[in-house]
Amino acid sequence: MSHIRQIHRVLLVKPTIEGAGVHLKRAFGFAEAPTLDPFLLLDDFHSDAPSDYVAGFPWHPHRGIETVTYMISGKVEHGDSIGNSGIIGPGDVQWMTAGGGIIHQEMPRQTNSELWGLQLWVNLPARHKMTRPRYRGITAAEIPEQPVDGGGRVKVIAGSYGGTSGPVSNVAADPVYLDVTLPRGSTFRLGTEPGHTVIAYVLEGRGRFAPGSGEPLEPGRLVQYADGDGVEIGADALGLRFLLISGKPLNEPVAWRGPIVMNTETDLRTAFEEYRNGTFLREDTCGGGQEPASSS
Ligand code: MN
Repeated sequence: MSHIRQIHRVLLVKPTIEGAGVHLKRAFGFAEAPTLDPFLLLDDFHSDAPSDYVAGFPWHPHRGIETVTYMISGKVEHGDSIGNSGIIGPGDVQWMTAGGGIIHQEMPRQTNSELWGLQLWVNLPARHKMTRPRYRGITAAEIPEQPVDGGGRVKVIAGSYGGTSGPVSNVAADPVYLDVTLPRGSTFRLGTEPGHTVIAYVLEGRGRFAPGSGEPLEPGRLVQYADGDGVEIGADALGLRFLLISGKPLNEPVAWRGPIVMNTETDLRTAFEEYRNGTFLREDTCGGGQEPASSS
């Protein structure tokens, strides 16, 4: 690494209400996404107050994107129009490629204690927007851990670190998705592809996200990096846990409304018309029926 990335800017999460009334924190979304290509949105739902999360995310459509859900604690039950259903528990990942269309729901399956999860939206390139929907459920046990020299560990969800590769591959954005935990005083280094978008999201503790950067950053901060070929991140006295995420920019026009992200306004209008008139789901991708199976 000859050109360590500096911090381009730090974003602070914003309180947001989504789904049927879930109170969550949005690290970035519609306003910031144009500079974070191929990423569109990062939501952090973290609360020990059931009134913040029990409403969940009832049946809704997606087209043109991938949604990546990573649970840290608590359980969410999901179901979708291509026949998947199950519980996403602590440490599990759901990598869902909406492609040409999926209808799904994501509902908390607990009525007390802490629920903590993150959802990232990754854009799909034009050539994959209408692809068959695909669902990958990855359990915590399937996510490898790699130690950090000098102390700490990295859960490798996508991409690779220290020769360990994550279980998620064949994604157009060529993503890296790491969950990094460092004890006090430890430093994490990773080579990053020049030209790729790199972000870090602080989960716990405090740390400095570039050499010579000022005050250490706390949870609820998202670091957007400037270009370079690597990152160097050091834990403060409290230790540090963060997500390190990178991806290859698509450099395509974005037409985005709600849960659907296309390249043109025409494609966007078509998607909403199809959803209204019941032709949103393709016959070859929904097992024949238009309506998803009941979750009860
Ligand atoms: Mn969704």
